[in-house]
Amino acid sequence: MNPHDFLEVDRDLDDEERAIRDAVRDYCRAELLPHVAGWFEAGTIPDPHAVAKGLGALGVFGMHLEGYGCAGTNAVSYGLACRELEAVDSGLRSLVSVQGSLAMTAIHRYGSEEQKLEWLPRMAAGEALGCFGLTEPDSGSDPGSMRTRARRDGTDWVLDGTKMWITNGAVADVAVIWAQAEDGIRGFLVPRGTPGLSATVVHGKLSLRASITSELVLDGVRLPHEAALPLAEGIKAPLTCLSEARFGIVWGAAGAARDCFEAALDYARTRTQFGRPIAAFQLTQGKIADMLVDVNQANLTALRIGRLKDEGRAHHSHISFGKLANVRAAQRVAATARGVHGASGITLEYPVMRHMVNLESVATYEGTAEIHALTLGRAVTGHSAFR
Ligand code: FAD
Repeated sequence: MNPHDFLEVDRDLDDEERAIRDAVRDYCRAELLPHVAGWFEAGTIPDPHAVAKGLGALGVFGMHLEGYGCAGTNAVSYGLACRELEAVDSGLRSLVSVQGSLAMTAIHRYGSEEQKLEWLPRMAAGEALGCFGLTEPDSGSDPGSMRTRARRDGTDWVLDGTKMWITNGAVADVAVIWAQAEDGIRGFLVPRGTPGLSATVVHGKLSLRASITSELVLDGVRLPHEAALPLAEGIKAPLTCLSEARFGIVWGAAGAARDCFEAALDYARTRTQFGRPIAAFQLTQGKIADMLVDVNQANLTALRIGRLKDEGRAHHSHISFGKLANVRAAQRVAATARGVHGASGITLEYPVMRHMVNLESVATYEGTAEIHALTLGRAVTGHSAFR
């Protein structure tokens, strides 16, 4: 029996979905896996544009979007790609999520034709990197409280404020910045090098180290009228993009969990203590059974939500369900797998602790567990407990 697809969930995939899964898996294992522990140790991706070009050629940036050089696949295929990417490292899946589901989706959904033609083909090819600036130092789970301001000056816009924890921020060719205007929240495209825009990389992260996280300061950033995303009106616009990215996390978390389980199973079969492989001890088998259940339930959840999405039936609370369930499952599996590895489990020779600490970020961004619990609570009780 295949422990990583125990319930034979992947039998429900069609040929195209399977081909995409295999192509992304092969690419990730050959091109990214050999480097990722080194990048994690260095606390950066040394050449993010080169990595982006490779991923662009693979076709994963904005792969679920139509036109403008995007592949136009179904949601399940995009999810499968996220699962394979995050089985290598959450930082790499984050790069793809931020580029495709956040920055490109914002432009695709809310941008003008000129904005789409200018940015989407280059972003799909990985020739331009994007970031998505919503969070601020004092505005995280409650993005509606943002302080970044956009004011009119003649036909121009002028932006002032600070964005925090922005993935790809310091290396992005274009930043999608959300700001409070007089008539509500609006989105703006701020190209790299615009006077008044500066980025500082966040150092000292103990999680998602193979990913570039930045603070962005906007100090009197003057933009022409055409820099605003014309169709983005209110907080719903960035939240819709977040829901797209969260869908990728539902699958990605299943990938991180699978990789931890695979490593733990391998290790338990080969590591001998008291004259037997540690896999032969009942306590270890209990852990293996728990991991087996978590990994396979996560895959089932991801595929079910993917099919709902492709049928146009996925509500944002379905995605909250998936994020809450699968990230928690992945955290349990990673912690258990780390323990199974004994001392070896704390090193970068094995992927388990890298995944374990990465999942702390995955649990925090795109809505914390508490926020998704409140979303689910509201969906089934009809009472909002957010404030
Ligand atoms: P807070 O909102 O201050 O929450 C602190 C704690 O309080 C949490 O446990 C939270 O669950 C809890 N809490 C808050 N409100 C409630 C409530 N009503 N009831 C109960 N508990 C509550 N943001 C971007 O815009 N773009 C990015 O590219 C991006 N990348 C990121 C990359 C990394 C590595 C990380 C760690 C974060 C990134 N973020 C990004 C930011 C991320 O989205 C926020 O960290 C997240 O929304 C949580 O906000 P916060 O950190 O300010 O925590």
